[in-house]
Parts: sequence; structure tokens; C-alpha cells
Amino acid sequence: MSYLESKKYEIVPTETYKIIRNCSGCGNKSVYHNTNKIRVNANGKQIDVWLIYQCSKCKHTYNLPVYSRINRDTLDKSEYEALQRSNQEIVNRLGLDRNLFQRKGAKIFREPTYMLKYIGGDSKENVIQFRNPYQIRIRHDKLIAECLEISRTQAKKILETGVLKVSKLSDDEVKFVY
Ligand SMILES: [Zn+2]
Repeated sequence: MSYLESKKYEIVPTETYKIIRNCSGCGNKSVYHNTNKIRVNANGKQIDVWLIYQCSKCKHTYNLPVYSRINRDTLDKSEYEALQRSNQEIVNRLGLDRNLFQRKGAKIFREPTYMLKYIGGDSKENVIQFRNPYQIRIRHDKLIAECLEISRTQAKKILETGVLKVSKLSDDEVKFVY
């Protein structure tokens, strides 16, 4: 198939997770978004850190615990300062840390939007590869449809008939060979 050529992509999220929870402000289930703000409380050397979420309807806030009663010295000085400044990079990292949400029982509303960033090809290998550093859950036929610019139906057929086969599958990478 002529449109198949070796390609490598990285799946880059374009938003952080939203949370769905019962809002005591609205009295109903509601979607909370990341405010991009981190709150740090220090009591001597003991600190608490939260990522602040807000109800999209009534602006009620929810503090997602990031660190609870840890010793400040267990963090890098630069990380501690970044937390105090609500540094955007750290907000994004925490806001896309699926394990953090799972540990704290925060229910993720849906998978984030993303873009496929082309990071090169390797003509020696017949492979289409996706790096997925944030472990976003995307169906294989959707990925193939997007990178080959074909319909989901066509992509499903390619996968079902084995034109493309999954050769490596982990939480942070999927690789298809042809
Ligand atoms: Zn609300």
C-alpha cells in the first residue's frame, strides 16, 4: 500500500485532565477544570501541596492533594520553588499524572485532547510508531486514521486484515508494522 511509509509520532496532550465529581456548590455531578494554580502550605518544614480545581458551573473549588505532610527537604529546591510559583510545566505534569488522580480517587472526566507531533521516519523499518509519554488512552484505529488521514472504517479494515499489525504495545508506546 503506497500510503504506508515509516513514521514516528509523539502524542502531545493539548490540555490537562478534568475531573468529574459531586459538587457541593451545585448539588450535582459536575466537571471541574484545572485552574493552573498550586497551593503550598508550610508548617515549619512540613508541607502540603494541592493542585486547585474549579467547578465549571459554580466555581466551587476542589483541592487535589499532591503531597500531604511531607518534609520540604525531600523535594529538590528547584521543584519546591516551582510549586510555590505554580510553574506551568509542573502544573501540566501534575495535571496529566494519571497515577496521581487514581491514587487520590479523583475521577478523570475524559481523555485529554491531543495532537500528533511528527518526529521523523526511518525508511529501514516498516513501522508506524507512537510515543505516548502521558499514557493517553486512544483507540488504535483512531491513531491510524489520523496519521494516515483516512476514515476510521478504513483504518479498522487495515488493522483487521493485518496490513498493519501491532508489534509493540505498552502504556507509553505503540508500534505497528506492515
Ligand atoms: Zn458546582
